[in-house]
Amino acid sequence: MAKKSTVNTKIKHIGVLTSGGDSPGMNCAIRSIVRSGIYHNLKVSGIHRGYTGLLEGEITPMEVSSVGNILQRGGTILKTSRCADFMKKNVREEAVHILRRKGIDALIVIGGDGSFNGAHLMSKENDYPVIGIPGTIDNDISGTSYTIGFNTAVETGIEAVDRIRDTAASHERTFLVEVMGRNSGTLALHVGVCTGAENILFPQEKINYEQVAADIKRGIARGKNSSIIIVAEGKAEGRSYEIAKNLKTKFKLDSRVCILGHTQRGGAPSAIDRFFASKMGDLAIHAIINKNFNTVTVYVDGKFSLSPIDKCLKKKDLVEQEYLDLARVLSI
Ligand code: ADP
Repeated sequence: MAKKSTVNTKIKHIGVLTSGGDSPGMNCAIRSIVRSGIYHNLKVSGIHRGYTGLLEGEITPMEVSSVGNILQRGGTILKTSRCADFMKKNVREEAVHILRRKGIDALIVIGGDGSFNGAHLMSKENDYPVIGIPGTIDNDISGTSYTIGFNTAVETGIEAVDRIRDTAASHERTFLVEVMGRNSGTLALHVGVCTGAENILFPQEKINYEQVAADIKRGIARGKNSSIIIVAEGKAEGRSYEIAKNLKTKFKLDSRVCILGHTQRGGAPSAIDRFFASKMGDLAIHAIINKNFNTVTVYVDGKFSLSPIDKCLKKKDLVEQEYLDLARVLSI
């Protein structure tokens, strides 16, 4: 459990914002924060458009009714943004001035590791209480095995690949299906295992074309008429086109490319994301009431808890060997 803060004022009024990439379930977390906050006699304000909106004073009071009918909606009703200026110390100081002027005693930030880095620095430099809630479809935040939106993104990927599989089988083709994941192969791994993909290409791995081609040819030899290869997008979206070109020129293998792109970010949150986000929102309110500031709500070993925010600032990649082995064994 994280150390108690030195901030002594009784927290009466909190702010909540979403920052960085949106993810399905953020609205469930906002709803939970607002309802649980009001239930516990806190005033809650919504800060629109992440740190950008905070700096522009886009802050409005939230009531129980402000968060009605949003559980099932993807994205974030508070909107989100990327704010390059927040990298500057004086800008973070200004943000705290704005919060204090509005009477906001603590801030809950729903976002990824980037947003937590901003919140952590802002807190440390200005002795201002923050709580983080992990929200990203990549499930790539250190210190937690779950982030809001990941489960929905996997479900969306599975649905898309199942559809592509119909066409791949009908036309006897190989498809490269590119899923999101700049630094993290977790989404690719889960979608790949759940759709029985013949191969999964991770962002950090050098592609072994001989192996990929051999896998496709082995499948054909044993009577498979189609293959699905899941490609994590890596540094730049569209790397599947280069892979398709190489398979054609080096091994005379035809393939089609389908890039799922932003279709994976939106959509109604899954049951798991709704449930976990609801729990984490309430946990964040309890963290504030109990003055467990500068923490992040995490899920570790099947339990919800709070972790010091500085343990949640790095990206992690949950592609574990046991699941890689599982994917390989099941795709022979
Ligand atoms: P995510 O929170 O989804 O990881 P980003 O990495 O884009 O998304 O970060 C969201 C925002 O958080 C950035 O636009 C910036 O305002 C803030 N931020 C990110 N990294 C830092 C940092 N090192 N210092 C201060 N603010 C940061």
